[in-house]
This record gives sequence, structure tokens and C-alpha cells, in this order.
Amino acid sequence: MNRLSDIGTIKDILSRHGFTFSKSLGQNFLINPTVCPRMAELSGAAPGVGAIEIGPGIGVLTNELCALADKVVAVELDKRLLPVLDETLAEHDNVKVINADVLELDLNKLIAREFPGMEVVICANLPYYITSPVIMKLLEDRLPVTAVTVMVQKEAAQRICAPVGSRESGAVTVSVNYYAEPSLQFYVSAGSFMPAPKVDSAVIRLDIRKEPPVGADEKKFFAVVRAAFSQRRKVISNSLSSGLSVGKEEILRILEKSGVPANARAEKLSLEDFAAIADNLRD
Ligand code: SAM
Repeated sequence: MNRLSDIGTIKDILSRHGFTFSKSLGQNFLINPTVCPRMAELSGAAPGVGAIEIGPGIGVLTNELCALADKVVAVELDKRLLPVLDETLAEHDNVKVINADVLELDLNKLIAREFPGMEVVICANLPYYITSPVIMKLLEDRLPVTAVTVMVQKEAAQRICAPVGSRESGAVTVSVNYYAEPSLQFYVSAGSFMPAPKVDSAVIRLDIRKEPPVGADEKKFFAVVRAAFSQRRKVISNSLSSGLSVGKEEILRILEKSGVPANARAEKLSLEDFAAIADNLRD
């Protein structure tokens, strides 16, 4: 068993380093010993594969990734954790810790520099205050990675992994499905973390698509998705008209041409419906 998920070990390390948790950096560290091995395994980390971790904390998941992957690069914003990671990752010679804000990093450059010619996966227990921006950055940057396996808040996991066209779907569901095939892997209770957050969590895996599933103009596609879900209680003709600042008559014409009923709600639409509307939208 990874000694780092033992609560006594964690408390000892943190107190020796005088470390106190930062709420604003989303620091909830895993103390359930079964979670990290499962996540690392699911992530696709394996011989010949490189892994990127976001927010290693004290290195509990990093250790598991190091045991499976050829090389691990972990990006941690809190520089107070660097001496801790020096200690907890000392037995591995295949890991590099980068002190940076993941949202500011050029991850395409990092991958070209650190993992030339390798298959790369991403695995992280994400800080919840930036879950959506991080996931969208990882997808929109079109990184040469095969899968992204992340722990997120349970409700966010359910929203992202809801089938497109179902009541539970939202703009994030459609956006993620454009780039990847999401799947909910397993739930993790709040008690698996120290300090325990107020919410439960879940691990999701996003298998990155080689090509988008629909061939619409990307800018228009995402403008339509954003507008459609901006007022999700409204019928699609109204939300598109106000969200895209296009007259109602023109929207009705576009919807008819796209085969989408004017009184449908955004959550009922398929990826193909959004693409058809984007195709029929004038420049
Ligand atoms: N991986 C550890 C675990 O599972 O126990 C820690 C996960 S904790 C939920 C999130 C981690 O992300 C913290 O270590 C925090 O300092 C780090 N973090 C927060 N914001 C970050 C950012 N913008 N870029 C990189 N790391 C960040």
C-alpha cells in the first residue's frame, strides 16, 4: 500500500514542513488508499507512456503514476509543496515537478519538450475552483494526448458524462463531447479527503477523439451551444435569437432548415442539431 495515503504519514509530513492547507487553492488531499492506484490504472499510464499530473499536492497520485508510466511531469502551483514533493518522490527518478499555474502553461510546448514521440495521458485530482476552465483548456488546446482522467465534483462529473440530448446535459456536456468521449468511472466520498470537502467526487475519463464527431465551423458551433444554453428554460428559438443577437424570423428560418423544432429546449438537441444550426448561420 502507498504509505502516502496513510493519514498518520500525511500529518507527519505536513507538520514537519509546517504546511497548512490553502482553501483558495482547492487543497483537499486524498487519504483513501484505494483511490489513487485505481485512478492511475484507469488513466492509461503504462510502460512507454508519459503522464502529466495537475496539482500533485503531496504526491500520493504522483507516486502511483511514477510506478506505471515511463515518465511523469507534475504541475503544482503552490511552491510550499516543492520541498514536500522532493521528499515524497525521492525514490523515483522518472518524475519532474514544475512550479506553475496550469492555466498559464503552454502544454503543447511542454509535451513536445518532455515527451517527444511518446503517447501521453493526463491524470489529476483537480482543484475544484478551476475544474471547468482546466478541462476546457486541456480540450481546446488540442493536446496530443489520448486520455484525460480526472477527479471532479460529483455533480460536475454527472453533468459532463450525461448523454447529449438528455435532461441532465448542459453546455459543458456538448462542448466536452465535441472533443472527447466522456465516461463516469467511479464515485469517491467526501470522507476520502483531508480536509473533507462539503461535496462528494467522481473520477471521469475523457477519451480524446481524433476528429470532431461533426464537421461544423468550430467558432459558430460553440457560439450556438453557448447561446442555446444561456437561458435553458427558454425554447431554442428565443435563446438563440437573444444569445446570438439574430432576429427571430431569421432564427426560425435557420431552425426549419436545420430540422430542429422552434419550441425544442437546448438539452434535447444532438451534436448534429447544433452543427446543422451552425452551418445554416450566416457569417
Ligand atoms: N493530487 C493531490 C491529491 O490527490 O491528494 C492534491 C489534489 S488537490 C485537490 C489540488 C492540487 O492542485 C493542490 O495541490 C493545489 O495546490 C494544486 N493547484 C491549485 N491550483 C492550481 C493551478 N492553477 N495549477 C496547478 N496546480 C494547482
